[in-house]
Amino acid sequence: MKRLEGKVAAVTGGSHGIGAAAVRRMAEEEASVAILDCLDDEGESLARNLVSKGLDVAYWHCDVSREQQVKEALDGVADHFGSLNVLVNNAGIAGPNKPTHELTEEEWDSVQNVNVKGVFFCTKHAIPHMKKAGEGSIINLSSIYGLISAPDVPPYHASKGAVRLMTKTDAMLYAPDRIRANSIHPGFIWTPMVEGHLKSTGEDLEEAKRATAALHPLGHMGEPDDIAWGIVYLASDESRFMTGSELVIDGGYTAH
Ligand code: NAP
Repeated sequence: MKRLEGKVAAVTGGSHGIGAAAVRRMAEEEASVAILDCLDDEGESLARNLVSKGLDVAYWHCDVSREQQVKEALDGVADHFGSLNVLVNNAGIAGPNKPTHELTEEEWDSVQNVNVKGVFFCTKHAIPHMKKAGEGSIINLSSIYGLISAPDVPPYHASKGAVRLMTKTDAMLYAPDRIRANSIHPGFIWTPMVEGHLKSTGEDLEEAKRATAALHPLGHMGEPDDIAWGIVYLASDESRFMTGSELVIDGGYTAH
């Protein structure tokens, strides 16, 4: 298929989980795709694997919480592929699973530095390239926890709420430049992040998986591809009239 023919996309946190699925599906739809991550071995190996299948993918080391690294990586992507049309702000961390009154300032900041400031830095340094290209699509990974909350991981929920509104602000700011911005709100998707989060509860992992699956009316957790297909849609011109919106892909979690 050629749903993304001619597009150049950068995916932060693209080495594994949802990001890796997005890289694979976008490349299969004929986008040129840059993987930005700190997991160099996994990212380079994913890029090699996809290149061996004839797809146009390359890897850049980039910690999204470091502005200079973000600027250098995105400028490098635009140089290498000739432009930048799509930014998937996917890198994120769950952070410490403690109640608010036990959190330290450092723990709070560590989550905001990646989940909020990282989205700011990447958007800031992608915009000039998108303006030059005359169009763009920014896809921000918020969460069901940017819409509703839960009695755990306070810095994470705060960060995902922030990302939801940053998306709407940027949608309005850059609409005149034909740059769209939308947020995606996944339910629980089985990835290393969710595995780590469920282990942090101290419960039996299999029991925690069953209980988490049961929170979704469809009766199971999602897979990375469930979100990757939403990312392909938002990256493509099929969604050309969509900006400032929330794409909820959650097995019915927020329908309660
Ligand atoms: P994941 O499996 O942990 O993958 C996230 C990727 O981002 C990892 O490769 C991670 O590398 C990377 N990363 C972390 N900090 C980074 C930084 N400072 N700079 C660059 N890369 C960094 O997570 P996921 O479950 O796929 O989640 C992807 C996004 O979807 C996140 O924003 C998450 O909040 C959101 N989301 C996920 C779910 C879910 O159920 N999985 C639900 C709602 C929303 P390291 O492993 O080295 O940290």
